[in-house]
Amino acid sequence: MAEATRIVIIGGGPGGYVAAIRAAQRGAEVTVVEKDLLGGTCLNRGCIPTKALLGSVEALHKARSGADFGFGIEGEIVPDFARMMERKNEISKMLRDGIHGLFKKNKVKLVEGTGRITSPTTVDVDTAEGLVTVEADKVIIATGSEPARLPFFDFDQPTVLTSTSALQLEKIPETLLIIGAGVIGCEFASVFSELGTKITIVEMMPQMLPLEDKRLAKQFQGIFKKKGIEVLLKTKVDGIAEYAEDHITANLEGGPQITAEKMLVSIGRQPNTQDIGLETVGVETDSRGYIVVNDKLETNVPGVYAIGDVNGGILLAHVASYEGLVAVENCLGGNQERDLKVVPSCVYTLPEIASIGLNEDQARDEGYHPITGTFRLGAAGKALAIGEAQGYIQIVADEATDKVIGANMMGPHVTDLIHEIAVAIKNGLTVKQIGDTIHAHPTIGEALMEAAHDVHGESVHVAS
Ligand code: FAD
Repeated sequence: MAEATRIVIIGGGPGGYVAAIRAAQRGAEVTVVEKDLLGGTCLNRGCIPTKALLGSVEALHKARSGADFGFGIEGEIVPDFARMMERKNEISKMLRDGIHGLFKKNKVKLVEGTGRITSPTTVDVDTAEGLVTVEADKVIIATGSEPARLPFFDFDQPTVLTSTSALQLEKIPETLLIIGAGVIGCEFASVFSELGTKITIVEMMPQMLPLEDKRLAKQFQGIFKKKGIEVLLKTKVDGIAEYAEDHITANLEGGPQITAEKMLVSIGRQPNTQDIGLETVGVETDSRGYIVVNDKLETNVPGVYAIGDVNGGILLAHVASYEGLVAVENCLGGNQERDLKVVPSCVYTLPEIASIGLNEDQARDEGYHPITGTFRLGAAGKALAIGEAQGYIQIVADEATDKVIGANMMGPHVTDLIHEIAVAIKNGLTVKQIGDTIHAHPTIGEALMEAAHDVHGESVHVAS
């Protein structure tokens, strides 16, 4: 019997742990090196904890809307922040325990400690018991990323938060200044505004959520405004006037100042590529420190792969996991290329936002003649029934072929609905094929069918 391929994976986030389990399923002998908690950023400091908090504030919002729904609750409804944070931690732990269980079941060996690649076939791990060297036929680097820290801000100050420290807060801040109106900044704004925090967001770009369709971003900004969230676009923070124990004062370009109890810096991520042995082995990185990989996710050093955030592709958990599967395939002799043309992008705010493929402007820039269809959720029975009728669904198609090339949506559960469009784009489906498919009534999903009909001006329920 042929010897099993030995694969060592540095980092047990959604890239590393998914790669490990798949490699073990394929018969490889797998070791994962993890210096902190299995599940990485996603499970412990990112996707899951933020969604757990959003789950809490969504419930809070519904409870406070009792009068609309037809019930009353005696006494004031007040958030129990300590319990919300405890619940978030419980959910993370439950999922982390699940990964430990899957490792056991699939015979993935976990070495706890800081890993460093010392040659294309060896990884040194600094463990509590001392240095351990693990031999490998293939190495996958999946060390992820951490919040970008501009030298500009003093992150040792208790008033300066990253997404990681914001998830450890013990008290709801009365005021919060958020630097950056990207996905993470907007998700935290959604959580804390519901908890009563007065929020100001400063964004240097001309629109919030700069990667989203500009019409959608504008409508979303209106929703934030109604919640009392102040959004300052085309505005830069150009220094800190005062770091105090209980507040911070930031200088905005042009003179004005903003004082807040806490300041959350959510301006992007930086790769975990320091001190992991890349220079020793000669692994190439780009000017921002991300590991350079080819379409097979192999670095310039044969047999050494890099997946997930650390290669700077698309910094999302589902992309990291997908890349884990591709890299494993190639480690085991396959010839699979990464394909990131169809990647759902989701923003878990209240309401949610989801997009995929090209928006109308991008389609035009790419030489398509885009045609669009839109359905407002204000006309969707299910959206009205659940009291979440803000938002719309828009499908973008190519006029020449009628094929779906993109969609953007805002409203309840759109982060689940986006996958219908993912399947459509990936398989070259037309708008007519979506429109001809019976969608259940009443659902938010039927708004997709109506939007598909609207592409050809035939939505029964769209008011002209
Ligand atoms: P990571 O998850 O960062 O995991 C890397 C692991 O490597 C870590 O466990 C780390 O401890 C370990 N490690 C690092 N160096 C070493 C070393 N030398 N030795 C041993 N171990 C090491 N993405 C989504 O798709 N959906 C979301 O809703 C979403 N929400 C987010 C919310 C926030 C607040 C943040 C910060 C991120 C969010 N993301 C979301 C992004 C997502 O978390 C990342 O894209 C994803 O975790 C990347 O996975 P990864 O495996 O590449 O790296």
